[in-house]
This record gives sequence, structure tokens and C-alpha cells, in this order.
Amino acid sequence: MKVPFAGFALRDLQQYCSEREIAVVHAATLMRAVYKESDFEPWKKPLLPLKLVKSLPEDFDFVTSTIAKARVSRYDQSVKFLVQLSDSHVIEMVLMPETKRLTLCISTQVGCRQGCLFCHTATMGLKRNLLAHEIVEQIVLANRWLAQNPGWLSEVRLPAFTRVTNMVMMGMGEPLDNVDAVIKAIEILTEPLGAHLALRRISVSTAGHKDGLVQLLAAYPKAAVALSLHEADSDKRSKIMPINKKWPVEEILRFLRDHYAVHNPRASILVQYLVIAGVNDTLAHAAAVADLLEGLPVKVNLIPLNEISGGRFVAPEARVLGAMRDLIHHRKLRVMVRYSKGQDIGAACGQLAAKAELPPT
Ligand code: SAH
Repeated sequence: MKVPFAGFALRDLQQYCSEREIAVVHAATLMRAVYKESDFEPWKKPLLPLKLVKSLPEDFDFVTSTIAKARVSRYDQSVKFLVQLSDSHVIEMVLMPETKRLTLCISTQVGCRQGCLFCHTATMGLKRNLLAHEIVEQIVLANRWLAQNPGWLSEVRLPAFTRVTNMVMMGMGEPLDNVDAVIKAIEILTEPLGAHLALRRISVSTAGHKDGLVQLLAAYPKAAVALSLHEADSDKRSKIMPINKKWPVEEILRFLRDHYAVHNPRASILVQYLVIAGVNDTLAHAAAVADLLEGLPVKVNLIPLNEISGGRFVAPEARVLGAMRDLIHHRKLRVMVRYSKGQDIGAACGQLAAKAELPPT
């Protein structure tokens, strides 16, 4: 049986080599080929030991997922991909060009079980967790797509980004509900001989999963965490984000504050606040956010809701966002209004729910 290559960290490949009495330096060659050169037939490389030339194609599946569809947004050049997994489940990822970085928003689960009222993915329920290699393969597929579509890069007039520079786990799923796979994926993604993403360039976004946070930060004390807050009042938050009943947001913030103070004193936590008309969009809400976050090392992003079809929630007016931002700013917190990219292609935050959108095969 073949195993997925993207689930192997460098040390796993080294072990694979030594078990076969092959010099372990070749593990590095393989990592480089797949992650730096998007070469999925590395056994064809010159100068590989014969044993490897023979065993690699027998033992490994170099990519198990495929891009089933790519759609470029007409107004901000983001690209939404439907990625088909080997068992035919479909997940989504979104590539977002910005001046200084090329960010890939990836999924960590097929669906999600958190049930946040405003989120499209929640309507699917949880189908299954992604495996570590399925998380890693998203960047592999995106980088290969970039190599094959140089036209897109010149169109977006980006500097010489030929590869993804940043990753955010803000696609489908709650990453910390699948924390073992996320931790393994981070090990593989940060490997200098491979994809070589710095840990601070991989943001793990959570609705507030305490057990997962504890485990993630034990494995990677400097992991970059983003918290989806959306409501400062704990009782009200429980109504739109059921996870708050199990792990109240105060408990999450206390844990993050203590952890960051000791292990990552110069970094800040990204706090996302989705603004929903008539739900959490008054100045009193903004003041409650400032009270809750006072003195914490945070950056606040106010994000207007993306309406989902059939959903009951409505986007706020721009004026409201500005007023909330000003209030939080005056309370000496760093705050910005952020608009999600990819709104015209259903790729914006909360719009990710893969349906039968695949072309007929
Ligand atoms: N489960 C994780 C990561 C996925 S959601 C988390 O909750 O952080 C990524 C972001 O999109 C979260 O901040 C989420 O709250 C936000 N989001 C969900 N639905 C949205 C919507 N309809 N409009 C805008 N953002 C939304």
C-alpha cells in the first residue's frame, strides 16, 4: 500500500531511508524536490541511489488530492479552489494576493461541528477531519498551480512571489478540533529543507477551543493564534457560538495572556470580530470589546459579515464599522476594518461550504 508523501516530516523520511540502508541525506533531496520544485516524480532525479529510484514510486503517493476547480475573483484577484480529496470529499482553499505577501487560506476539516450561527460551513456539519497530509497538500497544490499559471501572477502585478508566503487556517473547519493533524502539518510545513514557512506565518484561527490551544501551544509555544471573538459578552456569545458554553471566552483569553507573556512576549494575538447588523454592532458592543481586551497583546480586526444565502444575518453599514473602530482605537487598542476577499466567488470568510459545485466528470 502506498502512503502519502506529504504526511512525512524530514525525520520520518530519514527513518524511511535508514530502514532501507539508504544514506539519510537523500531525505533532504526528496523534501526539496517536492516542496521547493513542485516535482512529484522525484525518483527521476539524477544521482539517486537505485534502491530509492525503485522504492519511491512503489511506496509513496506524492499527491493524493487534486484541484477540481479554480475560480479567479474579478475584483480582487483572489482565487478559490475546490480541492478533491482521494475519497471524493471536496474542500476549499483560497489564495489571496496582497502587496507584501501571498496568503493561502486552507481548510482543516471537511465541514465543521462548532455550529456557529453565522457561518456557512457550519450548515454542513462535520464530515471528517483532514489528515496531516491533506492539510499540507493544499500548499503543494497551490504552489504547483502558481508555477503552471504564471499569467495570474503578472496580472495581479505582485512582486516575484512564485510561492505561497503565508498560511491561515481560516477555511473550512475548526483547526483545534483536529489538533493532532494540525501539529503534524506545522512540523512538515516549517521544515527549512521543504516548504520552509516560518511559524509566525502560519496562523491558526480558532473559535476558542481550549484543549486544542493547550495542545498546540505545548507543541509550538510560538504558534500564531487568531481568535474569533465576535461578541464580548459571554452569555450572548454562547448564543451565536455554542463552543463558548464549554470554554467561555474569558477563560481562553486568560490562558492566552499568560501563555504569551511567558513564551511569546513580543507577538500579538489576532482577534477577529465579525460585525453583524442588529446583533453585535453598537458602540456598547465596541466598548465591551475594549473592556474585555484591555491590556492584552492583541490586534483587532473588525470584519463585516458576509451574508450567506438563506442566512438570517445581515451585513452592517460601513458607517457603523467606522464608529466601532474609532471607539476601540480611542481605548488604545490596535484595530482595523478588514473586508474579506473573494466575495464575488463565494470564497469570503464564512462562505466556504463545498456543495455539488464540481463539474461533471
Ligand atoms: N473555526 C475557525 C476557523 C474558520 S472560520 C474560527 O472560528 O476561527 C474563519 C473566520 O471566518 C472566523 O473568524 C469566522 O468566524 C469567520 N466567519 C464565519 N462566518 C462568516 C461570515 N458569514 N462572514 C464573515 N466572516 C465569517
